[in-house]
Amino acid sequence: MNSQQRAIVIGSSLAGLWTARVLADHFEQVTVLERDQLPTEAASRAGVPQDKHVHVLLERGAQIMSQLFPGITDELLAAGANRVDLTQDSRAKIRGQWLPQFKSGIVTYACSRLLLESILRQRVAALPNVELCGGAQVQGLVAQNGAVDGVRVRWKDGRDEGVETAVFVVDASGRGSKLPDWLQEIGYDAPEETVIDVRLGYAGRRYKIPTPAPEWDMMLIGAEPPHKSRAGLIYSEENGIWMVMIAGILGDYPPTDEEGFLAFAQEVDPEFHAAIAQAEPISNIIGYRRTENRFRRYDQLNRWPDRLVALGDAVCGFNPIYGQGMSVSAMAAVELGEMIGRMGNGRLTGVAQSFQKKYPKIVEPAWLLATSADLEWLGNEEATSLPERFAGWYMPKVLDAIPDDQIVHKTFIQVQNLIVPPTSLFRPNIAWRVLRHSLRG
Ligand SMILES: Cc1cc2nc3c(=O)[nH]c(=O)nc-3n(C[C@H](O)[C@H](O)[C@H](O)COP(=O)(O)OP(=O)(O)OC[C@H]3O[C@@H](n4cnc5c(N)ncnc54)[C@H](O)[C@@H]3O)c2cc1C
Repeated sequence: MNSQQRAIVIGSSLAGLWTARVLADHFEQVTVLERDQLPTEAASRAGVPQDKHVHVLLERGAQIMSQLFPGITDELLAAGANRVDLTQDSRAKIRGQWLPQFKSGIVTYACSRLLLESILRQRVAALPNVELCGGAQVQGLVAQNGAVDGVRVRWKDGRDEGVETAVFVVDASGRGSKLPDWLQEIGYDAPEETVIDVRLGYAGRRYKIPTPAPEWDMMLIGAEPPHKSRAGLIYSEENGIWMVMIAGILGDYPPTDEEGFLAFAQEVDPEFHAAIAQAEPISNIIGYRRTENRFRRYDQLNRWPDRLVALGDAVCGFNPIYGQGMSVSAMAAVELGEMIGRMGNGRLTGVAQSFQKKYPKIVEPAWLLATSADLEWLGNEEATSLPERFAGWYMPKVLDAIPDDQIVHKTFIQVQNLIVPPTSLFRPNIAWRVLRHSLRG
């Protein structure tokens, strides 16, 4: 424990909340600075424009959530979330074929992103040594002798811009993070970025679940490379609501008017369209297009200031269709806590650089999954590394095998949910099944 010492977290979305929870075990005080005013209930915020869209928490994220916040899944269920087995309760069509439904035990707690974030926020706010400050826009870093020791803050309540000091600062300010600029202001380089952009667009709308409700809790229709660029998801949330999401790849952006939305849904799949055509819409249609995989390579910088860490979408954002960002930011926060814990005696020197260097390892499974699927659309020549290129060749064969092979299917779902490494798909017994399926055509 760093007694008498304070850590600052920039951003109070999912990455910031996981991080605050983890740092609360290691610092006397944790202050979360958030530019938005923080709602007391489940309400949308300008700083998180994606919060109105469907959010699936992968099994790995759910496991970490339960470890960090014991009893939270019961709280979510009591608030109306549904416990969904991702293979049994899901009607899914991948590469043009409906998948068999079977119990896998791999679950998610289906609810709105707003409910999830608000329950997490309440749990973090209840920690005795954590302070959540809304209306606090961080403007830059304060550093001396090679270490960051504070941030410059503009307060939205009219207070003068001031400096908040801390012995440790974490940037969890999301895709729009200004950290590359802030680093240059204090004499460091901005990072290179790896971007793989399949130009995916979302449109989402909420509906009342019709009665009688169908037997499934979610319906997933995958796109089919190389020609069918349209996909969709119907996802049950709290209060008897369906979140319906349609998506298009390679700039085939779904429309946000009523007629266009339904016409697009028909092209996603006739059964998908039929399901929503009989349900009552209860919201506007909202679009979203900032969906590229973007990895800011802070790990490759030669110089990095001590006592500064960046995580979550601020470092690596994924194509959201694979549902990884919340879980990966939880994994990163846990890794950070473990590194600080291993140093012992409140020592922090070197933690920041080691953590940032380790970041590619933390995100690698999710990055490979997301980019290999996207490279199927873009062409494997856009792969930036050998593992990406190999995954880009092999993963489509895995996806082709899934409808016909339950063992490959279950392993893929485990990998996709980040509970076993992607190498599980290369084990001889799986690789044999995948390649045999591929050879049979
Ligand atoms: C359309 C869409 C759908 C998605 N679906 C899924 C899904 O199904 N499953 C999943 O796991 N993930 C999903 N994601 C990703 C997920 O939303 C993020 O990975 C997750 O929110 C973690 O992001 P973050 O906390 O790093 O950043 P963000 O969620 O972007 O939050 C950043 C926070 O920092 C604050 N902030 C920014 N700048 C400052 C500043 N200067 N000072 C103070 N505060 C600041 C913002 O107001 C905000 O609160 C989706 C994303 C999108 C775009």
